[in-house]
Amino acid sequence: MEADELIAKANQDTAEQELQLQKDMAGHFMAGIQARVLMAEKCHEMGKKVIMVDIDGTICKQDGDPRSSDDAYSFRTSKPFLRRIEYLNSLHEEGHYIHYWSARGCWDGKDTLEETRAQLDSWGVKYNDVAVFKPFYDIWIDDKGVSVNRDEIWHREFTDSIDQAIEML
Ligand SMILES: [Mg+2]
Repeated sequence: MEADELIAKANQDTAEQELQLQKDMAGHFMAGIQARVLMAEKCHEMGKKVIMVDIDGTICKQDGDPRSSDDAYSFRTSKPFLRRIEYLNSLHEEGHYIHYWSARGCWDGKDTLEETRAQLDSWGVKYNDVAVFKPFYDIWIDDKGVSVNRDEIWHREFTDSIDQAIEML
């Protein structure tokens, strides 16, 4: 086989492998999506909600700028907002599906999932699921969003807003 033919064959093999990888990935994500749909349907049958919750600035004080390499791991010394955690734990105990989702790692691609789970556990956070690598954003616009103040002093507003959303949705 000539060199050109070998290169063409190698390129074709690579293209076929990439296509198969894309199919495998799509299958993997579809399986995850279907599992979440079933879980959400089960929650709704039971009169419960699926509640997505941010971590930094929501259930703990966030120090520094996570976009700065100096501050990217400042969450390690974050102080929890214990009353908010207690309130969210009460929703978990009522049977709502609590899923924490953080943008930790979105700047440098480092997986902080196990560290984040350990931190939540150390704060007594109760949850059904935790995920990291939420994409970076400055503003999150969502028709199902509940606004929270980054300062714990607005605890009453925090709980009232979530209670109201649970009633309405
Ligand atoms: Mg946040």
